[in-house]
Amino acid sequence: MPPATCLRCGNRAVIKRPKNHHKLCKECFISVFEDEVHHTITSSKLFFPGERVAIGASGGKDSTVLASVMKTLNERHHYGMDLVLLSVDEGIKGYRDDSLETVKRNAVQYEMPLRIVGYDELYGWTMDQVVETIGKKGNCTYCGVFRRQALDRGAKMLDIRHVITGHNADDVAETVLMNLLRGDLPRLSRSTSIVTGSASSEVKRSKPLKYAYEKEIVLYAHHKKLDYFSTECIYSPEAFRGTARTLIKGLEKVRPSAILDIVRSGEDMARLTPDKNQDACACDEGEGMGGCGSADGRTSGGEFAQMEAKLKATGQIAGFETEVTAKNDSAGDGSVKLPIRGGRGSKERSTAPMQTLGQCIKCGYMSSQEMCQACTLLENLNKNRPEVSI
Ligand SMILES: [Zn+2]
Ligand SMILES: [Zn+2]
Repeated sequence: MPPATCLRCGNRAVIKRPKNHHKLCKECFISVFEDEVHHTITSSKLFFPGERVAIGASGGKDSTVLASVMKTLNERHHYGMDLVLLSVDEGIKGYRDDSLETVKRNAVQYEMPLRIVGYDELYGWTMDQVVETIGKKGNCTYCGVFRRQALDRGAKMLDIRHVITGHNADDVAETVLMNLLRGDLPRLSRSTSIVTGSASSEVKRSKPLKYAYEKEIVLYAHHKKLDYFSTECIYSPEAFRGTARTLIKGLEKVRPSAILDIVRSGEDMARLTPDKNQDACACDEGEGMGGCGSADGRTSGGEFAQMEAKLKATGQIAGFETEVTAKNDSAGDGSVKLPIRGGRGSKERSTAPMQTLGQCIKCGYMSSQEMCQACTLLENLNKNRPEVSI
């Protein structure tokens, strides 16, 4: 079989894009990937010139790629953004210590200031202590709620109103599917927005890699030789998300565009599900996006670890030589009109037309309840603290 040629420049192709099976050389892949993120950013008007933006950085592949691409695009297209790395130290020994070292190196490599906020300083509990107390089951709920507030609080300490995270198309597709299977359309529609968080938080969230396939993020990190941390979180991810993930992987095998198709279907369903509830946050607190240090390393069966090993050994992903009849979905990503909506709402609350926002009586954090989610969880935890020293 003659070597495959790059669809764009005719050089030798080394990559078959997981997204549409286009064959590309390394340079063209990097450039197409960056152009697509740029398109996502401009078409949804994510930033304004002079905006200070914190990158939620875990040291994992997604947020490292996000930081690298943001630096590149900010310089290339003169976004005029002021970028800062913001890391959360959950207090997970052996996992977070090492990944924070990676973030520290990234700060030097990308010439960005870095702020690290710890669960212990914010809540008086590390995740290791939480797990010691409540066991491994359900700990992602704590981690997710704590994490979201930690990023918000860290951003506020820096006087920054916009946090971007490395959530990718696979993450969004999983969340869409999970909410579809749970019959939770209001939450489904919120999870598809590229910008989340409004009324309940002074800090806006967005995900510039929303249309980027996780596999392409791995490829980008590999070919750009980015310095990232690839060990998985030692605490188990939420089981239902794992199920959704396996389902999506199966679909992707027979239809490479499945991930983006699910994301787009989610966006279309969002348009059909008007969410009047503007008390904001689509982060799928408790069960989704927030857990286990963002999406990094949440894989079933070490698929990405295998992919990375293969890339290191051969520079190619498995199956590159295999001819697959894929439909040519010529990278029509990001061109979708994005419903920008806020809107929190767990099922119980989603019928309420408006919510009054107050402050948590304990910590002063913006909350629609008397006590914010983190404080409610903390109260529970403190009741069960093993050795209480009063
Ligand atoms: Zn090329
Ligand atoms: Zn509180």
